[in-house]
Amino acid sequence: MATINPAFGNELQKYGSVNFNACYNCGNCTAVCSLSTTENSFPREMVRLSALGLEEEIQASLKPWECYYCGECTTYCPQEANPGELMMSLRRYLTAKYDWTGLSGLLYKSLPVSIAAFILVFVGVMAFAMSVGFELETLLHVGHQFEMIAIGTIGMVILLPNIIRMWNFTILKPGVKVPFKKYMRSMGELFVHMFTQKRALGCDDNQKRWFEHLILVFGYLALLFTTVFLDWFSTTSLLVHVFGYVVSTVVFVVTIDFVSGRMKKNREVNKHSQPSDWFFVIWLFLMGFTAFVVRLFIDFDWLESNKWLYIVHFTVLAQWALLIVPFGKWTHFLYRSFALYFAKLKD
Ligand code: SF4
Ligand code: SF4
Repeated sequence: MATINPAFGNELQKYGSVNFNACYNCGNCTAVCSLSTTENSFPREMVRLSALGLEEEIQASLKPWECYYCGECTTYCPQEANPGELMMSLRRYLTAKYDWTGLSGLLYKSLPVSIAAFILVFVGVMAFAMSVGFELETLLHVGHQFEMIAIGTIGMVILLPNIIRMWNFTILKPGVKVPFKKYMRSMGELFVHMFTQKRALGCDDNQKRWFEHLILVFGYLALLFTTVFLDWFSTTSLLVHVFGYVVSTVVFVVTIDFVSGRMKKNREVNKHSQPSDWFFVIWLFLMGFTAFVVRLFIDFDWLESNKWLYIVHFTVLAQWALLIVPFGKWTHFLYRSFALYFAKLKD
């Protein structure tokens, strides 16, 4: 029998939902959504499940991840129930449910906790810098090692178990039987969605945003590759230098557009930004920007007398790797790709 949580609406508000209880079930939102189909219709269904507090059904659903937040449903909702924002809040809520550490929920729901976590990471970086007497060589070396260790550890200890929990909620618990062969055959779907987000192209007015996302994904991966594997801050290869400059510029130019869109609130997706949305775009911008400036200072031989700059970059990197990637909005990129893969398995 389905369990009802009467306090679910209040809980969802902490994840950013706005006024979804005003819904009177007219179905306009589902009718205008270009990604909704007869077999797989949303967002009205998710609004109803949320209003009824049917948590288990919500946790078993992949639909919140199938929405790319074009905002059409919100524009045409006669009740101003904000179905687009509800779908976004459900994604934040599900992220918290998948996370075995419970930290995602804490960080999503409390700005003071988020700020404290960012400060804690800063204090950790400063304590480390002091312990090595602000010696630049050591800082650069450890910064480089940190990236590799953080990627491996966060992936294995946090993200992989969370993906398994997501699979449990959406496939195993609801009793969906999938033959092993199908897991293998559909694997391509996972990578196609992860790197291209091609489904977003189905949204009527999403083309520019899709293109920016695509550039950002490849720019971000290229920046990661350049700093981690090509050791951008220490290499002498001119080709790697130039490549690093180009990709960090791409990352910060695209993120400037994202930050300015959130400030202007010119689209539905930008109208109800939560702290986690701001942290994501600002830190992404800072990553590209500080990496660019650090490399510039190395090339002009200014970094030795401006070690603070590398400490700023290291802090941004550590906050990104330890907070935003495992517990913040970065995870949406991962969960959405797996959701589309799981949806294919359920097909
Ligand atoms: S358009 Fe608004 S009122 Fe109508 S079903 Fe969707 S959310 Fe509810
Ligand atoms: S925001 Fe766009 S993609 Fe998401 S449910 Fe609404 S209309 Fe569909």
